[in-house]
Amino acid sequence: MTNKPTATSFSELPLAPAVLANLARLGYVSMTPIQAAGLPIALAGHDLIAQAKTGSGKTAAFSLALLARLDARRFDVQAMVLCPTRELADQVTQEIRRLARAEENIKVLTLCGGTPIAPQAASLEHGSHIVVGTPGRIMDHLERGSLALDALNTLVLDEADRMLDMGFYDDIAKVADRCPKERQTLLFSATYPDGIAKLSQRFLRNPKEVRLEERH
Ligand code: ADP
Ligand code: MG
Repeated sequence: MTNKPTATSFSELPLAPAVLANLARLGYVSMTPIQAAGLPIALAGHDLIAQAKTGSGKTAAFSLALLARLDARRFDVQAMVLCPTRELADQVTQEIRRLARAEENIKVLTLCGGTPIAPQAASLEHGSHIVVGTPGRIMDHLERGSLALDALNTLVLDEADRMLDMGFYDDIAKVADRCPKERQTLLFSATYPDGIAKLSQRFLRNPKEVRLEERH
């Protein structure tokens, strides 16, 4: 039996040449361990629970997967990322924009509380492919009818452990219940508290699990 080496180069993934060229331009040559383990699963369309410490490149792991499925010619929301805070949502939006440079005209909107809702609703009216936001504000948009999720194909729960710590379980549940049943759900977390299993049982379908434990 031969030992197949684990894929560590992005070029071994089924990604478009323009995407690979953009990654090289960003200085992303080798995949981080969570990307090497998680991306093949996410790109194959499976639901995924991915746990790895902070700073391990989880954002690109889900962003490349959702971008691979995105149809930029359709101007509707096809992917949504839920984050615990505005700061983290801004970081995710920036990373998605950097990774999306390979493709023209992909629109990413950040939807967080603490800023007036009306301008966000106006931006949504103009069309958006990806929304990134906090569960509370996303729920507000769903309730006032400014956000439609009929075309959603990917739901990401980012920093799920922190969202649970902050008491967002009910908001996440309400938002997820408004998403189409036929979708891919990707859950990313730095730690694996009990609540993660509860979240995944309720909102993920036959998820594959990748857990990179810290070794001491
Ligand atoms: P996490 O969400 O796991 O805390 P991030 O997604 O924020 O981590 O990534 C941490 C940093 O690593 C970011 O600055 C990001 O640009 C960088 N990064 C991610 N993947 C790669 C890669 N494959 N090669 C080089 N840098 C990377
Ligand atoms: Mg992160």
